[in-house]
Amino acid sequence: MKDICNSFSEILSQSATVQSAYELSEADCLKYCQGISAVVEHNQYKVLRAFWKNNISEVHLSGSNGYGYNDLGRDTLGKVYADIFNCEAALVRLQIVSGTHAIAVAMLGNLSPGEEIVSATGKPYDTLTKVIGFHNEYGSLAHYGINYRESSLTQQGKIDIDHLLTMLNKKTKMVFFQRSKGYSWRNSISLEELRRAISSVKSFNEKIICFVDNCYGEFVEYSEPTDVGADLIAGSLIKNPGGGLSLTGGYVAGKEELVAKSAVRLSAPGIGTGLGASLNFNHSAYQGLFIAPMIVGEALKGAVWGSRLFELLGYEVLPHYKEPRTDLIQAIRLGSSELMSLFCKGLQKACPLDSQATPEPDFLPGYENKVIMAGGTFIQGSSIELSADGPIRPPYNIFYQGGLSFAHAKIGLLMAALEIENK
Ligand SMILES: *Cc1c(COP(=O)(O)O)cnc(C)c1O
Repeated sequence: MKDICNSFSEILSQSATVQSAYELSEADCLKYCQGISAVVEHNQYKVLRAFWKNNISEVHLSGSNGYGYNDLGRDTLGKVYADIFNCEAALVRLQIVSGTHAIAVAMLGNLSPGEEIVSATGKPYDTLTKVIGFHNEYGSLAHYGINYRESSLTQQGKIDIDHLLTMLNKKTKMVFFQRSKGYSWRNSISLEELRRAISSVKSFNEKIICFVDNCYGEFVEYSEPTDVGADLIAGSLIKNPGGGLSLTGGYVAGKEELVAKSAVRLSAPGIGTGLGASLNFNHSAYQGLFIAPMIVGEALKGAVWGSRLFELLGYEVLPHYKEPRTDLIQAIRLGSSELMSLFCKGLQKACPLDSQATPEPDFLPGYENKVIMAGGTFIQGSSIELSADGPIRPPYNIFYQGGLSFAHAKIGLLMAALEIENK
């Protein structure tokens, strides 16, 4: 097998099985791709309206240095995010180093010793276990005497509202919801389901902060968690809302008081939102946000198409291509660490950068098992770009996401499928 093909049809001719799956997937996904395009239009308009309302102009694109006092671009970017998310305030900063950091800042900023946080969506994303302090990690919630409990999802992977309500008490300050499945084999939590769960929590005690990890969820549906009652949300700018252009960063958005408290934790008491040089961040953050609905649409089409492709090739997939989506993640049960490696090897070959590399499983800061990752991205670790990853543990699921264009997503998925088929 030649490594580099001269034409697209040459890729397909390497395997009759993959070729026929490709053709069927094309036909079957058409209708679902049209549905995605409608969401893109809605969200593109929503983003534009926020730009218009805030009179974004060239001055907003340049940044500050030093302390970053009176950084108009940075502060207005927060207002634009708040308008898009239909909430009071947002902190959008390059100093938020990742999604985990954004979530940590929101939790640690809004919880005090003796208070409790309850997860409504079972065990959270791997990196959050250290923020919560499953092993009493230094600086974690546990370290500061903040108690954590979790309400498992039902067998159908839904929020168990009745059980969740039994876990709430006078000490419960925050209920945590993780919208995306993370590295779990479960459905992601739709906004409708979130609406029902939040409303139940609020009827128990309206003061409880409903906080949503919104990673991979932005612009996937017509609305956002803050539209359905969430008090606070957080996410990463090297995922959906950065549109593949934002160079780094994260955001926290929601009620003004809660965002302000998060800012105290991000910087320092007495400083809060006032400081933080934006350097050259604003330009890419605005432009990335502007194209984010379209980029999310491209990635979603890739996920739907890949779901069908791998189902046709005989693998269990989650979600199914016909199911409605609330995040970008496509899980594929490959069943062995060898197939996970082959999938990643094929996908890596399809990347614009580092196509010659072979992904190897390794330990990463914050993760409990070895993780394998494929992705030759323009921005390091950016998972709005074509990428796949998964912890090396049974039942050996690979989690596929991103792709700045649908065409690239298809090529990546095909090359992953071929690597497996031709092994
Ligand atoms: C990506 C992600 C995070 C944060 O991960 P970072 O790598 O720190 O950005 C948190 N929760 C979920 C569900 C995620 O997908």
